[in-house]
Amino acid sequence: MQDDDWFDPAVFPSNPYLLLTPGPLSTTKKVKAAMLRDWCTWDDDYKCLVQGIREELVSLATKKIDDYSCVLMQGSGTFCIESVVGSSIPRNGKLLVLVNGAYGMRIVNMAKILKIDHCVLDSGELMPPNNDALLKHLQEDDTITHVALVHSETTTGILNPLKETCNIIKEHDKTLILDAMSSFGGVQFDAAEHQVDFLVSSANKCMQGCPGFGFIIATRDALDACQGSKRSLSLDLHDQWTTMEQDNGKWRFTSPTHVVHAFKQALKELEAEGGIPARHRRYATNQAVLDKGMRGLGFAPLELGLHQGPIITTFHSPDSSDYDFSIFYRKLKDSGFVIYPGKVTTRDTFRIGSIGAITPSDMRDLVSAVEQSIFWE
Ligand SMILES: *Cc1c(COP(=O)(O)O)cnc(C)c1O
Repeated sequence: MQDDDWFDPAVFPSNPYLLLTPGPLSTTKKVKAAMLRDWCTWDDDYKCLVQGIREELVSLATKKIDDYSCVLMQGSGTFCIESVVGSSIPRNGKLLVLVNGAYGMRIVNMAKILKIDHCVLDSGELMPPNNDALLKHLQEDDTITHVALVHSETTTGILNPLKETCNIIKEHDKTLILDAMSSFGGVQFDAAEHQVDFLVSSANKCMQGCPGFGFIIATRDALDACQGSKRSLSLDLHDQWTTMEQDNGKWRFTSPTHVVHAFKQALKELEAEGGIPARHRRYATNQAVLDKGMRGLGFAPLELGLHQGPIITTFHSPDSSDYDFSIFYRKLKDSGFVIYPGKVTTRDTFRIGSIGAITPSDMRDLVSAVEQSIFWE
């Protein structure tokens, strides 16, 4: 990314590599520079900053800004999902989780640990949710109160289509929880259009901020309905929300002040880029350049067809006994690129992210670095 060079390189060393991992990811210097001060966590300046961020996040998520509110939550993205799962489902409720990868399974695990009655519809890692099966399931089990699904399943890079799935869920009047962790900010969609009750994402993915907190954008009705259902003190979504509302942006416990300031800068940069549609175009171009370049070198992407998203791409590992991911990884890291191991359970793969402060030209450089790093026959 084009970045100003007003930083003293002695104080502000340049990055040894680009992170092509989908969070944390490469951020601009200005985002990092916003953290080079100590900030107060409770005074009016800070609370005002927090309120501004909450409002901006709601307007990025939907046109129906009056129906929705935003809660910021300390921790990584998983903490935010767990706060929704643990705070929104009443004791007599039941959660259906649509699974097509590790992040869907993580929600199932939360339900297990929190002792929440739940069931699973697994469509397999290469397929989006099966809407016929979903419909049948909801017709047959009317004890289900909540349905959770993942938008961009970072396990594979699949972008699950929302329209019909969300329609079915809402036609049956279920509360809809969307893990939009790796899509929000990089893929344009309106939460109200899909009737999403809880949308969860974090600072360090497509928003291009630093890790340390996430956020929940939810209807005021859904947040109100959380009262009395909490299963944790620190992850109590309702309490965090009412404190932020009533005390004008106050977090209940120590907030990651540096990261919140960095996030404000990241929001400015998203706007300067042209908003989510422009960011989506850059990510999609990054992904297309990556896909074409890697295919040119003989690497085959996972077969996701039209459901391949712009966020991360899974490639089959080379079919050679000389291939070793850790050596490949080390060579690429030495040439300035950090990639991701595979997460698909049935095949040997690796993954490369296309999000963050990176450009199509960075992707072309990566493809050259991959070509230079091939050490197997
Ligand atoms: C990154 C991610 C999460 C959260 O992961 P953390 O490591 O806790 O930030 C959840 N769901 C999806 C789809 C993700 O990509």
